[in-house]
Amino acid sequence: AKAAGGDRWQWFDAALDDQAGEAARLTDDLAQALLRDELFLLYQPIVELPSGRRTGVEVLLRWRHPELGLVAPDVFVPLAERSGVIVEIGRWVLENACRQAAVWQHRHGERAPGKVSINVSARQLAEPGFVAEVEDILSRTGVDRTRLLLEVTETAVLEAGAALEAVRELRERGLRVALDDFGTGQSSLSLLLTVPVDVLKVDKSFVSGAAADQAGAVIVEHLIGFTNGLRMEAVAEGVETEDQARRLHAAGYSLAQGYLFGRPVPAAEIEAALLDPAAA
Ligand code: C2E
Ligand code: CA
Ligand code: CA
Ligand code: CA
Repeated sequence: AKAAGGDRWQWFDAALDDQAGEAARLTDDLAQALLRDELFLLYQPIVELPSGRRTGVEVLLRWRHPELGLVAPDVFVPLAERSGVIVEIGRWVLENACRQAAVWQHRHGERAPGKVSINVSARQLAEPGFVAEVEDILSRTGVDRTRLLLEVTETAVLEAGAALEAVRELRERGLRVALDDFGTGQSSLSLLLTVPVDVLKVDKSFVSGAAADQAGAVIVEHLIGFTNGLRMEAVAEGVETEDQARRLHAAGYSLAQGYLFGRPVPAAEIEAALLDPAAA
């Protein structure tokens, strides 16, 4: 089935069909997706509140399946993790995102789109050679490491000791790390004392999703105090309305991401906005 999804495209959503069969098929096809050049990257702005000025972008992976059309990453990333092909795909994402970041850095210098956030999966992070691979990609692409932010999930860090070690080592080497989807895992706030990170991404369910009721608002307000105390930055995800942005700013948030400020778009659109001072 095709269902209207988070983006402008029609998503193929395996959840609506014969799940096991579809999953097996997608897993097979995914192994070929890289070779067949079916993967591509979009970039979503991360902005300052209240100005809406862009301070960075998050890199979001897309898969255009030859028959099914666009498959949502919420569907194919978990499959790629299960089969292990995420390690190879993740390497491709990192390499291509860094190459793009380097191009922006050279072309636009200070006006470049700021920090480039890249999602790193649990499997990738726990791979023995991951840190060395990051270093290799950094030196080959020439991207400045201070321009990158690696997004990892709490479950990733909790699942494997190796992942935790990788986070520590990346930060020692001057890379910045964000804890993604914060609040959705089983972890407690004490995780942040064990795994120091630079940025907390407060999950969209507390901002605009089903949990964005009174309890969501309380969580959102407490987390900002917490991050301030730990000298971390907080990014509110999934900001869709002016009202949400106003409330977040009032609660102390200075960074946000969401459809209100911009959807994920191809690099060329980010580039066009850079060249148009009115849009910057
Ligand atoms: P995520 O890392 O939490 O990424 C944010 C998701 O929220 C993106 O979904 C984005 O399009 C969506 N989003 C942004 N603003 C809004 C908003 O205002 N409202 C709503 N409802 N949604 C918004 P997307 O692109 O479908 O990605 C889904 C997930 O797939 C990501 O969640 C991430 O966990 C995973 N993913 C995407 N790209 C990669 C990648 O390169 N590597 C890995 N390992 N995972 C990825
Ligand atoms: Ca993310
Ligand atoms: Ca997130
Ligand atoms: Ca997510």
